[in-house]
Amino acid sequence: MSFVFGPVSSRRFGLSLGIDLSPDRKRCNYDCLYCELSKAKPIAVFDEPADWREIASEVKEALKTCSPDKLTITANGEPTLYPYLNALIDELNAIKNGAKLMILSNGATIGVPSVTAALAKLDIVKLSLDAAEEKAFKKVDRPRSSFANLGAVINGMINFRARYMGELVIETLLVGGANDTADNFNALALALNKIRPDRIDIGTIERPSAYKVQAASAENMRLLADRLAAIGLNARIIPSKYINAKCSFDRIALLALLQRRSLSDFEAAAILDETALALLSDLVSEGLATIKTLGEKRFYAKADLSA
Ligand code: SF4
Repeated sequence: MSFVFGPVSSRRFGLSLGIDLSPDRKRCNYDCLYCELSKAKPIAVFDEPADWREIASEVKEALKTCSPDKLTITANGEPTLYPYLNALIDELNAIKNGAKLMILSNGATIGVPSVTAALAKLDIVKLSLDAAEEKAFKKVDRPRSSFANLGAVINGMINFRARYMGELVIETLLVGGANDTADNFNALALALNKIRPDRIDIGTIERPSAYKVQAASAENMRLLADRLAAIGLNARIIPSKYINAKCSFDRIALLALLQRRSLSDFEAAAILDETALALLSDLVSEGLATIKTLGEKRFYAKADLSA
C-alpha cells in the first residue's frame, strides 16, 4: 500500500509531500457537501489502521529523492481518527530533515485530549471551520452525530490555540446557498475572534465534488474576508497560484497522486515535468485517468474502474 504521494504544489502551503493514513478507502467522521472523495457514511472509529512504522519508513524512502517544504499528514478522510497518530508524529519529527510537519484536519476532534497533545507537536496545524452556526454546520459538513457538537469543536479550537506555539491556520470553505449566509458570517466572526488563529484561509469549491453544489460568489468570499480583517484577523481568500515545481513522476506515483487529488490543467502544467505531462496524456488514452469538468475548468482524475 502506498501512503506517500506527490509532492504536490499546494496553493496554501507550497511544495508538499502528502502522507495519506487511509489510502485504501475513505474514513471520515464528516461527509461534507464539497468533499472531493466519494460520498460515504461518516464513521466513529478508524478500523484496520496501518502500522505507523510502515508509514514512517515509506516517508523516509521518499525523502531520499525529494526535498519538500512540508510533510503533510492527511487522509482519505480525517487523519486525527488514526489511532497511532502520536507515535507517527514523533517519528516524522525525527526524520523530517528540515521540512515542516503539518496536518490537514477537519477540526472535529480538536477537543479530544490525546489529539490536542499530538497536534501540539506539529509545526503547522490546519483545522477547518466552515460554520459557527448550527444549521449551516450540519448542512455543509454533515457530521456523524457523535461529532456534531459544534460548541465543543469551537471551544476545542480556543483551548488548542491557548497552548499551541506553532502556526494555526483555520480554513473556511464556503458553499453557495449553504454557509455563505449573514447568520453564519456573524457567528464565524464571533468564534474566530475568540480562536485568534495565525491565518484564516477562505475558499470555495474549486474541484469536482461528491454532491451537486455550487461555489460561493467572489463577492461573498470578499465580504467574509473584510469582516474578519475589520476585527484584526489575518484573513485571506486562498490565492490561485501554484508553485512551478516541474517534478518527475513515474506511472505509479502519478496514479497515486490522481487517486487522492484531481489536477487542473493549470496545476498539472505547474507541477509536472514534460515527461510526466506526456504520461498523463497516456493514462487518459489508456482509460486509467479521466477528464472531469467544473465550469470552464478541466481536471484530471484517476478513472473509477470498479464498475
Ligand atoms: S472532512 Fe474532508 S475528507 Fe471528510 S468529508 Fe469533509 S472534505 Fe471529505
